[in-house]
Amino acid sequence: MVILDGKKASQAIKNQLKQQVLSLGSDKKPHLAAILVGNDGASETYVASKVRSCEEVGFESTLVRLDNDVSESTLLQAIETLNADDSVDGILVQLPLPKHIREQRVIESIDAEKDVDGFHPVNAGKLVQGLPSFIPATPYGIMLMLAHFNIDTKGKHAVVIGRSNIVGRPMSILLSSNHPQGNCTVTICHSHTKNLEDICARADIIVAALGRPGFVTNNMVKDGAVVIDVGITRVEDSAAPKGYRIKGDVAYEEVAPKTSAITPVPGGVGLMTIAGLLKNTMQAHLNRTQITVDR
Ligand code: NAP
Repeated sequence: MVILDGKKASQAIKNQLKQQVLSLGSDKKPHLAAILVGNDGASETYVASKVRSCEEVGFESTLVRLDNDVSESTLLQAIETLNADDSVDGILVQLPLPKHIREQRVIESIDAEKDVDGFHPVNAGKLVQGLPSFIPATPYGIMLMLAHFNIDTKGKHAVVIGRSNIVGRPMSILLSSNHPQGNCTVTICHSHTKNLEDICARADIIVAALGRPGFVTNNMVKDGAVVIDVGITRVEDSAAPKGYRIKGDVAYEEVAPKTSAITPVPGGVGLMTIAGLLKNTMQAHLNRTQITVDR
């Protein structure tokens, strides 16, 4: 069984990006601007690690912080300013947003050319049609991980649990696409799926992205399957230094021995998500000179 180590795979990508930044020359650096609304603990952690990763590879980064009670129009204005700022290549708005802000409105206000999270409908539509686009960072990171570890996907039956716009649905499109890490026959499952356990038990590849800790158990996994655990849930644990532990959607201890390859949580997909975001930011920067990054 191979542990699909996100630290190793993401470091390899960061090293490539570092070299690419150096080759651009000192005055031309990709620039990511992140907007963080409020002070949710998990969102703070994610944004901090995205900003830190930008610095690590030599990108510029800007963090725009807005109060939790900021109006939707003020947030849209902040996005407009970044859209118009020629020095900014990529923009991300950390989700989730407070309830009084319409998330879809915010996503659609980001210039699709700077939408390095790949959530804008223009990029989602291009992805469906197999056109060059910004791929949502988590599914993109998973594809990069499959490539890094030479996981054979051609002709395999992949089961994706979850159909969100940010993970499950784009993942299912990528795995079914005509791509070196695609060409799977894909079943996409959700909360109304019947016989989910049986469907999973027939899968060569399982991508669990539902946000239910320990949901995928060993009876749902066939011998030799590849298991990708996207889930990140904070579970209270008074014995843990922070008072919580991060749990994935897979019951790792019982499932791992049956698999041919599996991602750990933490240390798996989360790190690859950042790698995907950095690659998208580099691509956004290079698009001005019409250069394409290998997918
Ligand atoms: P989401 O928007 O809540 O979507 C969850 C999906 O799972 C929905 O499609 C839902 O079905 C489905 N689902 C829920 N319960 C189910 C069940 N019992 N059986 C089958 N399907 C079920 O979540 P998300 O944003 O996609 O995120 C999913 C997980 O990934 C979360 O733990 C999140 O924190 C994590 N995540 C991790 C990363 C990373 O970098 N590692 C990035 C993004 C998200 P319906 O559509 O029918 O409701």
